[in-house]
Amino acid sequence: MAHDINKLWEQDKAHFIHPFTDFSVFEKEGCDIITESRGEYVFDGKGNKYLDGIAGLWCVNIGHGRREMGQAMAEQAERMAYYSPFNNLSNVPAIELSAKLAELAPSNLNHVFYSCGGSVANDTTVRIVHYYFNQLGQKDKKIIISRKNGYHGTTYVSSSLTGIESNNWGFDTADQFVHHVAEANCYRRPDGMTEAQYCDYLVEDFESSIRQLGGADKVAAFIAEPIMGAGGVLVAPEGYHRRMYDVCKKHGMLYIADEVVTAFGRLGHFFASEAVFGIQPDVINCAKGLTSGYIPLGATLLSDEIYAVISKPQREGAVFSTGFTYSGHPVACAAALKNIEIMERENICGNVRDVGPYLEQQLKTLLDLPIVGDVRGSHFMMCIESVADKATKALLPMEANVGKRIAEQCQKRGLIVRPIAHLNVLSPPLIWSRETVDLVVGILRQSILATVESLI
Ligand code: PLP
Repeated sequence: MAHDINKLWEQDKAHFIHPFTDFSVFEKEGCDIITESRGEYVFDGKGNKYLDGIAGLWCVNIGHGRREMGQAMAEQAERMAYYSPFNNLSNVPAIELSAKLAELAPSNLNHVFYSCGGSVANDTTVRIVHYYFNQLGQKDKKIIISRKNGYHGTTYVSSSLTGIESNNWGFDTADQFVHHVAEANCYRRPDGMTEAQYCDYLVEDFESSIRQLGGADKVAAFIAEPIMGAGGVLVAPEGYHRRMYDVCKKHGMLYIADEVVTAFGRLGHFFASEAVFGIQPDVINCAKGLTSGYIPLGATLLSDEIYAVISKPQREGAVFSTGFTYSGHPVACAAALKNIEIMERENICGNVRDVGPYLEQQLKTLLDLPIVGDVRGSHFMMCIESVADKATKALLPMEANVGKRIAEQCQKRGLIVRPIAHLNVLSPPLIWSRETVDLVVGILRQSILATVESLI
């Protein structure tokens, strides 16, 4: 379908408030209007085709333009698009999806609460955690420990959990019950520390923060992404999550895994917490890959222990008064069921386990380039960090805008990667083959070299 791109751009500028956008740059430079998408590719309205290196926004895990997904949603919309999930009303896709998620998740997580995305899932989790401890009579146990540079969303509470400082510039946060501890950044760990010593240091710092905050009486939970995503694709040292989990248990705290990015195959498993990191969290939140971004859906998976407490009325006749009009939306749940069916049928997690290590290995060949300081991540969740000096790890000046320059060079060559300051993130659809990886790494090499030349 032909579009009047200039007219669309004028309307966009006049009326569509884009998330996370520098409006001064946006108004000057315009934007790319993506009009179609198929498999590994997206197309703009000007006839350009791009390899999608970021799966939309870490979410289009099964790839773009799957007819079956459209059909599943259309059939459900025709059969029964919506009905209330409140009280004793239910719907078939929400029931079937809940049972399927309980089957795929670690064995203690058998109860699902639905929202429309990751931020709301995290926000709701805090509400449920507070309710849970209130029910147990531990009414002062309210503090949630999160990590600096963690990303958990932008609703009021989830933005407070988010530890990326610049994200909250100009906004207020719920500081009274959120505390941030250091993130695990192996590349920029203190000089002279081994990874094992760094892990000890982080775990001790965590435990000492718990004590300073009042210990088990005050601290309710810890929230962490298995691999920190938007904060720079930071992989924690070996054993870190297990040890943080053990500290939580020692202090009667809940462990919340924010798997909004890592669930649904990005690390080669439906859920990473147990399969990759060996822990059974009390809560897992997911969104994005749950429907591969075909329609919004978030899910909070709660343990049997939490459910046993929150499912008891606070007083005679009282209800669990939290939820949304669209909790367990039938069309979204039908999309999630079809998405999972496709992932299982095509063994998409198997593809990630097979091609992921190749992607890591090939991206690491870029470390010979003069500004590539670090290549890190795991499987289909990768990142390149550019530096001015590899020995000191000093950054290029902010004005150099190196991440953006590399992304622009890639885009000229038909590849979309995501710039975050001096970083470039790759989080592709989970259907990439080795051939696609070779193509992508070739484009990245040329683009980084062109950027180096432009910096001289
Ligand atoms: N948690 C993590 C780890 C995320 O990466 C994101 C989004 O990128 C969110 C939560 C927020 O999800 P949403 O944008 O769907 O609200």
